[in-house]
Amino acid sequence: MVGSVNLDIVATAPRLPRPGETVTDAVLGTHPGGKGANQALAARRMGAEVRMVGRVGADANAAQALRLLRDGGVDLEGITIDEHEATGVALIVVDAAGENQIVVAPGANRAITREHVSIGEHDAVICQLEIPIEVVVEAARHAGGLFCLNAAPVRGVPDELLEITDLLVVNEIEAEQLGSRIHSGDALVAVTLGAAGARLHRRGAEIAHMMPPAVGVVDTVGAGDAFVGAMVASLTAGHDEVESLRRAVVAGALATTVRGAQPSLPSLEAVEALL
Ligand code: ADP
Repeated sequence: MVGSVNLDIVATAPRLPRPGETVTDAVLGTHPGGKGANQALAARRMGAEVRMVGRVGADANAAQALRLLRDGGVDLEGITIDEHEATGVALIVVDAAGENQIVVAPGANRAITREHVSIGEHDAVICQLEIPIEVVVEAARHAGGLFCLNAAPVRGVPDELLEITDLLVVNEIEAEQLGSRIHSGDALVAVTLGAAGARLHRRGAEIAHMMPPAVGVVDTVGAGDAFVGAMVASLTAGHDEVESLRRAVVAGALATTVRGAQPSLPSLEAVEALL
Protein backbone atom coordinates (compact mmCIF):
# COMPACT_ATOMS: atom_id res chain seq x y z
CA MET A 1 0.00 0.00 0.00
CA VAL A 2 1.33 3.40 -0.96
CA GLY A 3 -1.19 5.86 0.39
CA SER A 4 -2.64 8.23 2.92
CA VAL A 5 -2.81 8.06 6.71
CA ASN A 6 -5.21 10.39 8.51
CA LEU A 7 -6.72 10.90 11.91
CA ASP A 8 -10.45 11.61 11.65
CA ILE A 9 -11.57 14.03 14.36
CA VAL A 10 -15.34 13.85 14.55
CA ALA A 11 -17.63 16.19 16.48
CA THR A 12 -21.20 14.94 16.63
CA ALA A 13 -23.23 18.10 17.14
CA PRO A 14 -26.94 18.96 17.44
CA ARG A 15 -26.64 20.80 14.11
CA LEU A 16 -24.00 22.07 11.65
CA PRO A 17 -22.71 25.62 12.28
CA ARG A 18 -23.33 28.42 9.79
CA PRO A 19 -20.25 30.48 8.76
CA GLY A 20 -19.08 32.44 11.80
CA GLU A 21 -21.37 30.57 14.20
CA THR A 22 -20.34 28.47 17.22
CA VAL A 23 -22.34 25.34 18.04
CA THR A 24 -21.73 23.70 21.41
CA ASP A 25 -22.83 20.44 23.10
CA ALA A 26 -20.95 18.31 20.55
CA VAL A 27 -19.42 14.94 21.46
CA LEU A 28 -15.88 14.27 20.27
CA GLY A 29 -14.49 11.10 18.73
CA THR A 30 -11.11 10.39 17.10
CA HIS A 31 -10.75 7.59 14.58
CA PRO A 32 -7.86 6.34 12.43
CA GLY A 33 -8.57 6.97 8.74
CA GLY A 34 -7.21 7.87 5.33
CA LYS A 35 -8.07 5.74 2.30
CA GLY A 36 -4.58 4.25 2.18
CA ALA A 37 -4.60 3.16 5.80
CA ASN A 38 -8.20 1.91 5.60
CA GLN A 39 -7.53 -0.21 2.52
CA ALA A 40 -4.26 -1.53 3.97
CA LEU A 41 -6.16 -2.79 7.00
CA ALA A 42 -8.97 -4.11 4.79
CA ALA A 43 -6.50 -6.25 2.80
CA ARG A 44 -4.79 -7.38 6.01
CA ARG A 45 -8.10 -8.49 7.59
CA MET A 46 -8.77 -10.45 4.38
CA GLY A 47 -5.59 -12.43 5.00
CA ALA A 48 -2.97 -10.56 2.97
CA GLU A 49 0.47 -9.61 4.29
CA VAL A 50 0.48 -5.83 3.96
CA ARG A 51 3.26 -3.26 4.04
CA MET A 52 2.17 0.36 4.32
CA VAL A 53 4.22 3.14 2.72
CA GLY A 54 3.08 6.58 3.87
CA ARG A 55 4.08 9.69 5.77
CA VAL A 56 2.96 11.15 9.09
CA GLY A 57 3.99 14.14 11.22
CA ALA A 58 6.20 14.15 14.32
CA ASP A 59 3.11 14.60 16.50
CA ALA A 60 0.80 12.72 18.86
CA ASN A 61 -1.84 12.20 16.14
CA ALA A 62 0.53 9.88 14.26
CA ALA A 63 0.44 7.09 16.84
CA GLN A 64 -3.35 7.33 17.09
CA ALA A 65 -3.73 7.30 13.30
CA LEU A 66 -1.59 4.15 13.02
CA ARG A 67 -2.88 2.29 16.08
CA LEU A 68 -5.31 -0.10 14.40
CA LEU A 69 -2.86 -0.84 11.58
CA ARG A 70 -0.21 -1.75 14.15
CA ASP A 71 -2.65 -3.85 16.19
CA GLY A 72 -3.86 -5.51 13.00
CA GLY A 73 -0.37 -6.61 11.95
CA VAL A 74 0.26 -4.23 9.03
CA ASP A 75 4.02 -3.71 8.52
CA LEU A 76 4.70 -0.02 9.21
CA GLU A 77 8.41 0.02 8.32
CA GLY A 78 7.58 2.07 5.22
CA ILE A 79 5.99 4.90 7.23
CA THR A 80 8.30 7.94 7.30
CA ILE A 81 8.04 10.93 9.63
CA ASP A 82 7.96 14.51 8.39
CA GLU A 83 9.50 17.04 10.77
CA HIS A 84 7.62 20.00 9.28
CA GLU A 85 4.15 18.80 8.33
CA ALA A 86 1.44 17.53 10.68
CA THR A 87 -0.15 14.10 10.45
CA GLY A 88 -3.09 14.29 8.03
CA VAL A 89 -6.35 15.20 9.74
CA ALA A 90 -9.97 15.15 8.61
CA LEU A 91 -12.11 17.52 10.70
CA ILE A 92 -15.65 16.20 10.55
CA VAL A 93 -18.86 17.64 11.99
CA VAL A 94 -21.90 15.37 11.94
CA ASP A 95 -25.38 16.58 12.88
CA ALA A 96 -28.25 14.65 14.45
CA ALA A 97 -29.58 13.67 11.01
CA GLY A 98 -26.19 12.27 9.92
CA GLU A 99 -25.48 15.20 7.57
CA ASN A 100 -21.80 16.18 7.67
CA GLN A 101 -19.21 18.84 6.89
CA ILE A 102 -15.62 17.74 6.32
CA VAL A 103 -12.38 19.68 6.03
CA VAL A 104 -9.23 17.70 5.28
CA ALA A 105 -5.75 18.98 6.15
CA PRO A 106 -3.55 16.46 4.28
CA GLY A 107 -0.33 17.63 5.97
CA ALA A 108 2.37 14.95 5.73
CA ASN A 109 0.38 12.99 3.09
CA ARG A 110 1.15 15.81 0.64
CA ALA A 111 4.83 15.78 1.62
CA ILE A 112 5.48 12.25 0.35
CA THR A 113 8.03 12.29 -2.44
CA ARG A 114 9.34 9.56 -4.72
CA GLU A 115 12.37 9.16 -2.45
CA HIS A 116 10.10 8.00 0.38
CA VAL A 117 8.70 5.17 -1.68
CA SER A 118 10.56 1.88 -1.40
CA ILE A 119 8.26 -0.88 -2.48
CA GLY A 120 10.26 -4.07 -1.89
CA GLU A 121 8.92 -7.54 -2.67
CA HIS A 122 5.21 -7.71 -3.42
CA ASP A 123 2.44 -9.37 -5.40
CA ALA A 124 0.41 -6.18 -5.69
CA VAL A 125 0.65 -2.44 -5.11
CA ILE A 126 -2.42 -0.36 -4.26
CA CYS A 127 -2.72 3.43 -4.47
CA GLN A 128 -5.47 6.03 -4.15
CA LEU A 129 -5.29 9.74 -4.99
CA GLU A 130 -4.82 11.23 -1.50
CA ILE A 131 -1.03 11.51 -2.02
CA PRO A 132 0.82 13.44 -4.78
CA ILE A 133 0.04 12.06 -8.23
CA GLU A 134 3.73 11.80 -9.20
CA VAL A 135 4.26 9.44 -6.26
CA VAL A 136 1.32 7.31 -7.43
CA VAL A 137 2.80 7.18 -10.95
CA GLU A 138 6.20 6.21 -9.51
CA ALA A 139 4.63 3.43 -7.42
CA ALA A 140 2.74 2.17 -10.48
CA ARG A 141 5.93 2.10 -12.57
CA HIS A 142 7.71 0.07 -9.91
CA ALA A 143 4.88 -2.38 -9.31
CA GLY A 144 6.12 -5.77 -10.44
CA GLY A 145 2.84 -7.57 -9.85
CA LEU A 146 -0.69 -6.24 -9.96
CA PHE A 147 -1.08 -2.46 -9.77
CA CYS A 148 -4.46 -1.38 -8.38
CA LEU A 149 -5.58 2.23 -8.58
CA ASN A 150 -8.58 3.35 -6.55
CA ALA A 151 -9.15 6.67 -8.34
CA ALA A 152 -10.54 8.44 -5.28
CA PRO A 153 -10.88 11.33 -4.82
CA VAL A 154 -10.79 11.94 -8.58
CA ARG A 155 -8.34 14.61 -9.66
CA GLY A 156 -6.06 14.96 -12.69
CA VAL A 157 -5.44 11.31 -13.52
CA PRO A 158 -2.80 11.21 -16.29
CA ASP A 159 -3.32 8.85 -19.24
CA GLU A 160 0.00 7.14 -18.46
CA LEU A 161 -1.31 6.10 -15.05
CA LEU A 162 -4.47 4.57 -16.49
CA GLU A 163 -2.38 2.74 -19.08
CA ILE A 164 -0.19 1.01 -16.48
CA THR A 165 -3.05 0.21 -14.11
CA ASP A 166 -4.08 -3.47 -13.97
CA LEU A 167 -7.12 -3.03 -11.73
CA LEU A 168 -9.03 0.25 -11.57
CA VAL A 169 -11.65 0.63 -8.83
CA VAL A 170 -14.10 3.55 -8.93
CA ASN A 171 -17.53 4.27 -7.54
CA GLU A 172 -20.35 5.53 -9.78
CA ILE A 173 -19.50 9.20 -9.29
CA GLU A 174 -15.81 8.67 -10.00
CA ALA A 175 -16.69 6.57 -13.07
CA GLU A 176 -18.84 9.43 -14.35
CA GLN A 177 -16.11 12.00 -13.70
CA LEU A 178 -13.48 9.95 -15.54
CA GLY A 179 -15.91 9.06 -18.35
CA SER A 180 -14.89 6.74 -21.17
CA ARG A 181 -11.22 7.02 -20.12
CA ILE A 182 -11.76 4.25 -17.55
CA HIS A 183 -12.15 1.77 -20.40
CA SER A 184 -9.31 3.11 -22.55
CA GLY A 185 -6.66 0.62 -21.42
CA ASP A 186 -6.53 -3.12 -20.79
CA ALA A 187 -7.24 -2.79 -17.06
CA LEU A 188 -9.85 -4.74 -15.22
CA VAL A 189 -12.34 -2.06 -14.14
CA ALA A 190 -14.53 -2.49 -11.05
CA VAL A 191 -17.34 0.04 -10.64
CA THR A 192 -18.95 -0.07 -7.21
CA LEU A 193 -22.66 0.76 -7.08
CA GLY A 194 -23.46 1.01 -3.36
CA ALA A 195 -26.51 -1.11 -2.52
CA ALA A 196 -26.52 -2.40 -6.12
CA GLY A 197 -23.15 -4.14 -5.64
CA ALA A 198 -20.47 -3.82 -8.28
CA ARG A 199 -19.78 -4.44 -11.95
CA LEU A 200 -16.56 -5.72 -13.49
CA HIS A 201 -15.51 -4.69 -17.00
CA ARG A 202 -12.62 -5.15 -19.35
CA ARG A 203 -12.17 -2.93 -22.43
CA GLY A 204 -15.74 -1.68 -21.98
CA ALA A 205 -17.35 -5.15 -21.90
CA GLU A 206 -19.12 -6.28 -18.74
CA ILE A 207 -17.66 -9.46 -17.23
CA ALA A 208 -19.83 -9.73 -14.12
CA HIS A 209 -22.33 -7.94 -11.87
CA MET A 210 -22.52 -9.03 -8.23
CA MET A 211 -25.27 -7.96 -5.84
CA PRO A 212 -24.47 -7.67 -2.13
CA PRO A 213 -26.15 -10.03 0.34
CA ALA A 214 -29.00 -8.60 2.43
CA VAL A 215 -27.44 -6.91 5.46
CA GLY A 216 -28.57 -4.48 8.13
CA VAL A 217 -26.95 -1.23 7.01
CA VAL A 218 -25.78 1.00 9.87
CA ASP A 219 -23.41 3.35 8.04
CA THR A 220 -21.66 3.03 4.68
CA VAL A 221 -18.38 4.65 5.77
CA GLY A 222 -15.52 2.30 4.87
CA ALA A 223 -17.53 0.19 2.39
CA GLY A 224 -15.51 1.31 -0.63
CA ASP A 225 -12.24 0.76 1.25
CA ALA A 226 -13.32 -2.73 2.34
CA PHE A 227 -14.13 -3.48 -1.31
CA VAL A 228 -10.69 -2.45 -2.61
CA GLY A 229 -8.73 -4.28 0.10
CA ALA A 230 -10.79 -7.44 -0.32
CA MET A 231 -10.61 -7.40 -4.12
CA VAL A 232 -6.82 -7.18 -4.18
CA ALA A 233 -6.33 -9.61 -1.28
CA SER A 234 -8.56 -12.15 -3.08
CA LEU A 235 -6.78 -11.76 -6.43
CA THR A 236 -3.34 -12.16 -4.83
CA ALA A 237 -4.62 -15.19 -2.88
CA GLY A 238 -5.26 -16.83 -6.25
CA HIS A 239 -9.02 -16.38 -6.71
CA ASP A 240 -10.18 -15.50 -10.21
CA GLU A 241 -11.65 -12.12 -11.14
CA VAL A 242 -15.28 -13.04 -10.66
CA GLU A 243 -14.74 -14.81 -7.34
CA SER A 244 -12.64 -11.85 -6.16
CA LEU A 245 -15.47 -9.50 -7.13
CA ARG A 246 -17.92 -11.67 -5.18
CA ARG A 247 -15.71 -11.51 -2.09
CA ALA A 248 -15.17 -7.76 -2.44
CA VAL A 249 -18.91 -7.09 -2.70
CA VAL A 250 -19.56 -9.17 0.43
CA ALA A 251 -16.72 -7.37 2.28
CA GLY A 252 -18.20 -3.99 1.28
CA ALA A 253 -21.65 -5.05 2.45
CA LEU A 254 -20.31 -6.28 5.80
CA ALA A 255 -18.51 -2.95 6.31
CA THR A 256 -21.90 -1.21 6.24
CA THR A 257 -23.12 -3.22 9.24
CA VAL A 258 -20.67 -1.62 11.70
CA ARG A 259 -20.20 2.10 12.39
CA GLY A 260 -16.94 3.80 11.36
CA ALA A 261 -14.26 3.01 8.79
CA GLN A 262 -11.49 0.82 10.24
CA PRO A 263 -13.59 -0.91 12.94
CA SER A 264 -16.06 -1.99 10.25
CA LEU A 265 -13.58 -3.78 7.95
CA PRO A 266 -14.50 -7.48 7.93
CA SER A 267 -12.25 -10.51 8.43
CA LEU A 268 -11.76 -13.25 5.85
CA GLU A 269 -13.73 -15.60 8.13
CA ALA A 270 -16.71 -13.23 8.24
CA VAL A 271 -16.68 -12.84 4.45
CA GLU A 272 -16.40 -16.57 3.82
CA ALA A 273 -19.19 -17.29 6.32
CA LEU A 274 -21.52 -15.10 4.25
CA LEU A 275 -20.48 -16.40 0.82
P1 ADP B 1 -17.93 4.19 -2.00
O1 ADP B 1 -18.13 4.17 -0.53
O2 ADP B 1 -16.50 4.22 -2.42
O3 ADP B 1 -18.81 5.18 -2.73
P2 ADP B 1 -19.88 2.12 -2.63
O4 ADP B 1 -20.89 2.92 -1.91
O5 ADP B 1 -20.13 1.84 -4.07
O6 ADP B 1 -18.41 2.73 -2.50
O7 ADP B 1 -19.73 0.74 -1.83
C1 ADP B 1 -18.73 -0.21 -2.05
C2 ADP B 1 -19.30 -1.60 -1.87
O8 ADP B 1 -19.86 -1.72 -0.55
C3 ADP B 1 -20.45 -1.93 -2.83
O9 ADP B 1 -19.94 -2.49 -4.02
C4 ADP B 1 -21.27 -2.93 -1.99
O10 ADP B 1 -20.69 -4.21 -2.09
C5 ADP B 1 -21.09 -2.43 -0.58
N1 ADP B 1 -22.19 -1.53 -0.17
C6 ADP B 1 -22.19 -0.18 -0.13
N2 ADP B 1 -23.38 0.31 0.27
C7 ADP B 1 -24.17 -0.78 0.52
C8 ADP B 1 -25.52 -0.97 0.96
N3 ADP B 1 -26.32 0.07 1.24
N4 ADP B 1 -25.97 -2.24 1.10
C9 ADP B 1 -25.18 -3.30 0.83
N5 ADP B 1 -23.91 -3.18 0.39
C10 ADP B 1 -23.41 -1.95 0.24
